[in-house]
Amino acid sequence: MRKLVLACSFAFVLGACNKEEINGPTSATDPEANQSVSVDNNVKKKHYCFNEERYLERLNNDQEFAERIAAIEAHTEAYNASLKTEKADLPIYTVNVAVNVIHRSEVPISRESIRRQIAFLNQAFSGQDTDRAAVPQMFRRFIAGDTRIRFDLKRIRFRRNQKRFTNAEDLFFDVEGGIDPLNPDTTINIYISNAENFTEVVFGVAALPGTEPEVDHIFIDVATVGPTPSPGLFSEGKVLVHEMGHYLNLFHLPGLQTENCRFDDRVGDTPNSSELYGGAPELGSQSTTCGSQDMFMNYMGVSYNFIVEMFTIGQRNRMRATLAPRGPRRNFVQTSNE
Ligand SMILES: [Zn+2]
Repeated sequence: MRKLVLACSFAFVLGACNKEEINGPTSATDPEANQSVSVDNNVKKKHYCFNEERYLERLNNDQEFAERIAAIEAHTEAYNASLKTEKADLPIYTVNVAVNVIHRSEVPISRESIRRQIAFLNQAFSGQDTDRAAVPQMFRRFIAGDTRIRFDLKRIRFRRNQKRFTNAEDLFFDVEGGIDPLNPDTTINIYISNAENFTEVVFGVAALPGTEPEVDHIFIDVATVGPTPSPGLFSEGKVLVHEMGHYLNLFHLPGLQTENCRFDDRVGDTPNSSELYGGAPELGSQSTTCGSQDMFMNYMGVSYNFIVEMFTIGQRNRMRATLAPRGPRRNFVQTSNE
């Protein structure tokens, strides 16, 4: 079974919304790019994550899948209901990760850069990337801070291959020219490659819990690996933070359908929203939907990397539910004092 169920980040249909449009006047692939370049602060583009549409379609048409997701949601609800401990008492969940790099000619990224990226992932999940003072006051009480989830990089592997990959899925298989995942029963596999020939323009894609094991992995474009010394608009390392959020069962803030206030992200403390913001939005009427200010600085939005900087407590709990005993991602937890 090669059906792919992904929640995608920054996935767009070519022609409808290309990368240049998203990146604004500078390019995420340009190592010289930096955030001091002027950006259109009024930018409020419509972004559709087509894989979310696929997810919704499958939820409506594939009974087995729908039952799996319903079981995961029931577990998440039960976990949330059982939460009585203070944050400081929450056990730390350390999960195993492996990074697989598939490249055409020269190795496009060093082991050191990958280690820095995983170190940043740990910083973000520890709350160290969140500048509390920069978060609008109305949202500060929702800041997750330390999620008490950690990532232990077990291995980095490279494969050189001249194939022009047109989708992330093929990267997951030796026979397709990619790399079979490392210990997929116990390890989260992150794939890095160049997405320039992909049929859908993506910076990253990630499977949500409930996905078939064969394709239950994360992909990020090599240009997003960070933090880079001169950070570009999408190369501060936050694309992987976003994708890991998906992998641990977070949706984008508008839920499975934008432009629709009836859909939510199944997290209680993120405001209901009908817009997935790109660029550099500002507070006020231009970033207000469904009757309230939207939280466009949340990691699960697709604003520029220098804009997004927080998970909420509700998101933290939803992610932790996947790693808790009987959770759908429990198999990746290496250590826990539960
Ligand atoms: Zn996404």
